[in-house]
Amino acid sequence: MKVVVLNTGSELLLGHVLNTHLTYIAQEIFPLGLRVDRQVTVPDGPAIGRALAALSAEAEIVFVTGGLGPTTDDITREAAAELLGLPLHEDAQVAAEITLRLRSRGFAMTDRILRQAQVPKGAVVLPNVNGTAPGLYLEAVSSKATPHLFLLPGPPRELQPMFQSSVLPILEKIAPPGEGMKSRIFRLACVGESVVEKAIGPQLLALPEVELGYCARMGEVDVRVIGPARTLAVADEIVRAAFPLLLFTTTGEDLEAVVVRMLRERSATVAVAESCTGGYLAHRLTNVTGASAVFLAGFVTYANAAKTAALGVEESLIERCGAVTEEVAAAMATGVLRKTGATFALATTGIAGPEGGPEAKPVGTVFIALAGQEGETTVWHRRFQADRLAFKHLTTQSALQMLREQLLSTR
Ligand code: ATP
Ligand code: MG
Repeated sequence: MKVVVLNTGSELLLGHVLNTHLTYIAQEIFPLGLRVDRQVTVPDGPAIGRALAALSAEAEIVFVTGGLGPTTDDITREAAAELLGLPLHEDAQVAAEITLRLRSRGFAMTDRILRQAQVPKGAVVLPNVNGTAPGLYLEAVSSKATPHLFLLPGPPRELQPMFQSSVLPILEKIAPPGEGMKSRIFRLACVGESVVEKAIGPQLLALPEVELGYCARMGEVDVRVIGPARTLAVADEIVRAAFPLLLFTTTGEDLEAVVVRMLRERSATVAVAESCTGGYLAHRLTNVTGASAVFLAGFVTYANAAKTAALGVEESLIERCGAVTEEVAAAMATGVLRKTGATFALATTGIAGPEGGPEAKPVGTVFIALAGQEGETTVWHRRFQADRLAFKHLTTQSALQMLREQLLSTR
């Protein structure tokens, strides 16, 4: 079935509001075997009617978002009624609900507000738990060649619950049964997309009915595979065999969430000592629900003196080797391990730039150290040529991956 999404709202085209409805709707309908074929955004006003007419002629399911409210620029309802030649009437129940809602909030009723109770003849009212304007569903009429038409409110907190409770049940009835296509995203840490494609692309593309896509993100690559269940199962084997260490999830978890989960499973703890990442590593780890069970402490030791005072890194070592070295990274990690008693400690030291960086240590140079109560302290040397925030992200991505690899080997 051909599905189109019509997003209305001048604010979207002015760049004031990010269009999240397309993402939301596309993800919600995929499990039903439905995919958005085309998406159009139009400003408030008469463009809505024109776009609706054009899209209704080409699609079997049309979702319209926004423009159901009480203001003069909200004309979606009227545009749809006009297109389908349906008279509007005031729905007594909707009017009663709006009245009740206003009264409970101490607002007076106006004609404008009451407009939201206007319903095209034959439309199904989709209740709005978080707002006054209900959504509307108009069933497809094959003799008139009109599509299934859903009119949905603009605010995400109104649209999303409505989609769950009212729209999905209708779609389940009208979507063609079981095409059985599934989607899986394989997330790989600390690798570039061309490396990934070279390693697994040809094998994946040879699978039956496969649709393959890559998405390069900062410090990771997402490989998206769409196909029947059997294709996905084989794709899983291929990706795992090629990247046993770098594949960190197929269920959408972030790398830091994976690391926190693995630490919890092993009843292990972590502490961090950060120079160039300025607390970003601690930030990422503590963004995860349940981090308190595993995260002990984070030290931001930016100045050399702080590395000595807080972590016990010997002044002479910094003088002799320089702050951005394998030796100092290792001393920071063992220092924080000693101070906190954590199972594992991570440390970062690098030159974020854009200024500074002697010849021997170009901008972007970073050392990441991992120390543990058992085993040796290891250090990764990397170079990330990126702006400061991206540099921090890439460095912490490597640090998290370093710990993850360690955890994989201590099952
Ligand atoms: P209201 O009753 O609030 O006027 P409405 O159904 O008339 O709702 P709009 O006026 O078009 O909807 O949009 C209301 C608000 O919803 C916008 O200011 C915007 O913040 C948000 N919104 C609208 N469209 C989108 C979208 N595509 N993605 C994300 N947010 C959106
Ligand atoms: Mg509005």
